[in-house]
Amino acid sequence: MTDLMGRGPLGLKGAKPPKPPRKPMKASGPKTTKLRTAAKGQPCTLRLPCCNSNPETTSLSHIRAFGWAGTAEKPMDFLAVFACSDCHDALDRRRNGELWGWDDVTRALGETLIAQHRMGNLIVA
Ligand SMILES: [Zn+2]
Repeated sequence: MTDLMGRGPLGLKGAKPPKPPRKPMKASGPKTTKLRTAAKGQPCTLRLPCCNSNPETTSLSHIRAFGWAGTAEKPMDFLAVFACSDCHDALDRRRNGELWGWDDVTRALGETLIAQHRMGNLIVA
């Protein structure tokens, strides 16, 4: 039995209104870029005491500082250094006790930018 509004008996819930469609997840950046691809096989520019000096493990290690990227975001690819897997772990603080300083990172960033420029991946006007 329904009332004049078409509602059922008191105490019974009607069907739930449909949920609004979910927003799509924020698009993440590309997994592979020219600057990231270029890192493979390059010598490590950080060269921390933990460095494994194996260019086969080198990848582009992003510098997460100064608000250059939001939470769960990577900074732009030119704010990154060529780092072997062990130095990359140290820079991202996944390696306990490995100390590094901003002088190491600044030197590595400069060396990486020069290398990327020489490979034609960065165009400087
Ligand atoms: Zn290294």
